[in-house]
Amino acid sequence: MTIRNSSFTLLSPLTALLLSMPNPLLAAAPANASASVAASVAASVATSAAASVATSATAAKADAACSDESGWDDPAPPRKVFGNTWYVGTCGITALLITTPKGHILIDGGTETGGKLIEANIRALGFSLRDVRQILISHEHHDHVGGVAHLQRVTGASVHALRPADAVLRSGKSTREDPQFLELKPMAPVANVQPLKDGQVLQAGDLNLTVHATPGHTPGSSSWTWQSCEGTQCRQMAYVDSLTAISDDVFHYSNERAHPGYLAAFRQTLKKVAQLPCDILITPHPAASGLWERFGEKATKPLQDAQACRDYAARGMAGLEKRLLKERGKKPL
Ligand SMILES: [Zn+2]
Repeated sequence: MTIRNSSFTLLSPLTALLLSMPNPLLAAAPANASASVAASVAASVATSAAASVATSATAAKADAACSDESGWDDPAPPRKVFGNTWYVGTCGITALLITTPKGHILIDGGTETGGKLIEANIRALGFSLRDVRQILISHEHHDHVGGVAHLQRVTGASVHALRPADAVLRSGKSTREDPQFLELKPMAPVANVQPLKDGQVLQAGDLNLTVHATPGHTPGSSSWTWQSCEGTQCRQMAYVDSLTAISDDVFHYSNERAHPGYLAAFRQTLKKVAQLPCDILITPHPAASGLWERFGEKATKPLQDAQACRDYAARGMAGLEKRLLKERGKKPL
């Protein structure tokens, strides 16, 4: 199935598979094509050079404040991650803008307050909000999607999400399928949410953005992979969702009767994440992948780490095993 939406195209999982196959011919194409993407982005950013300079003092101040302990709504400076991928989130919650000459894609909307900071960050980079054509999400919790309704209003973008996250966005309310159901706040409902299928590829210009269903933290958890290039240098970007086994007092991951298959799906997610194409890992909570040690003025480690997704999955697995031991009434080691 191919879904077309103005300049964006969603490809079927089969097409996605073909696109993800190692093929020297396919690999050569984006490297050339990326130059035009980079040039176009550079041109559009150049028009706002003054705005960027004007925000640099504020940016430096905000950057100094970003740490693993930062709050969800602490402002962060917007900045380039790599190629056409930009960090537009807060210090505590990630939001990414992926730019193309055919329009931009925003992944995640922060909290209700954070949504306005994301809006300001996109403007500060010099991008037009009306050029944001699609909003995508990591998972259906208020700290990551509470600002989506506002961002949709100011951009006019359509919103795409895997099931059952799409239904949560539409109603603004979670369900008992979510491990944290009893502790979740209602959110502003989002209009025009279109469902996605695992493996679908969102295509805009030379960008092929693949969604991976990674259920566990929530039933609708989604991770995203794409390639970003700077000249002939290309990197596999991986925006991998939260892998933490956190719940309210009622939900038990080991209770098969209450939610059949949930634990098996979570384990499958951890295997899947370890195998994702992943040069540069970014997570919805920056601290979960040590982003502020790898990115920004105070970085002490390289942004790129070929082991990052494997290590992240291993930490997720350790957390899940610890949680299961607790559920069995045993003390974790
Ligand atoms: Zn969450």
